Amino acid sequence: MIRGGKQTIIAAGFAFLQATRLHRVLAPLTRGLGAIVMLHHVRPWAERPFAPNRLLEVEPEYLDAALTMIKSRGFDIVTLDEAVARLVEGRGARFIALTFDDGYRDNVTHALPVLERHGAPFTLNVTSGFADRTARLWWVELEEAIVVLDHIALAGEGEAIDLPSVTPDEKQAAFEALYWWLRGGPEDRMLAMIAELLRQAGLSSAAIVNRLCLDWGGIEALARHPLCTIGVHTLTHPMLAKHDAAFVWRELEESRRVIESHARRPARHLAYPVGDPGSAGPREFAMARDLGFASAVTTRPGMLFPAHRDHLRALPRLSLNGHWQDLDSLDVLLSGVPFALWNRGRRLNVA
Ligand SMILES: [Zn+2]
Repeated sequence: MIRGGKQTIIAAGFAFLQATRLHRVLAPLTRGLGAIVMLHHVRPWAERPFAPNRLLEVEPEYLDAALTMIKSRGFDIVTLDEAVARLVEGRGARFIALTFDDGYRDNVTHALPVLERHGAPFTLNVTSGFADRTARLWWVELEEAIVVLDHIALAGEGEAIDLPSVTPDEKQAAFEALYWWLRGGPEDRMLAMIAELLRQAGLSSAAIVNRLCLDWGGIEALARHPLCTIGVHTLTHPMLAKHDAAFVWRELEESRRVIESHARRPARHLAYPVGDPGSAGPREFAMARDLGFASAVTTRPGMLFPAHRDHLRALPRLSLNGHWQDLDSLDVLLSGVPFALWNRGRRLNVA
């Protein structure tokens, strides 16, 4: 596995806190009322040298150990409804709510047995277009195209890309260069460029979604499970802030309507796709409120504090990240200290 410079810096921070135990001292100031945990894939690790999306998958054994640790640290594992109620009313013990984004098949095959063993409620944030097989897992497409291709050639508007992609290091470098360049620009350009790479690699977008994502039958079955809350994760998984207001409104309202019609119950909670400040900002937070969502989560890192009561559609999350599947790191994360450092001491990051 290849780790980037950012991960090396984070590793140094974790090591420092673990060695000094400073996080235990600071936790009363930084841990807040609780956290909303973010997960994506849960599946056994298939060893491979090039795995640029590894942050988005954890192993079932780690999820099991993490839930045990969360409970041993005095957190109740609660539904998102209960988390919002405790946040608003300032009552009850510290809490963790679990969220799984996108609607992956492995959430049923590998996560659900662990969740059932722990009696742990969870929210599955559904992108209706993945269940329909019409939306695109573009970050997986980019990875799988680069696995196949030994040369990355793209002709943009005046920006020709030409990168070697034979060794794992070259593939990693190509992924990072393309990923951040494309993610920083217009969504239609990103999707068109990745579609071209997928075509060169002889792969099919719909086949990838079909392999990885639950269909409506799978989502409807989960929706009937007593531990499961169904949340909304849009129609097509766009970076909402890059689009006009009418587009965003439709992505939120129409996906909720479709998801509720399959789940046969209200879907009160929203997760913004991608979820960073470039994908969800004040306009999206206001729309989520106007549409009546009880909560909406970003991917901004952080614990929950009383001040979040006034920002229920701009909530941060604690990512269970595939790069950090060890209990010492989780212990540090649950203290809230890494988020206090990341947010430079701010408890709110909602602008
Ligand atoms: Zn997502």
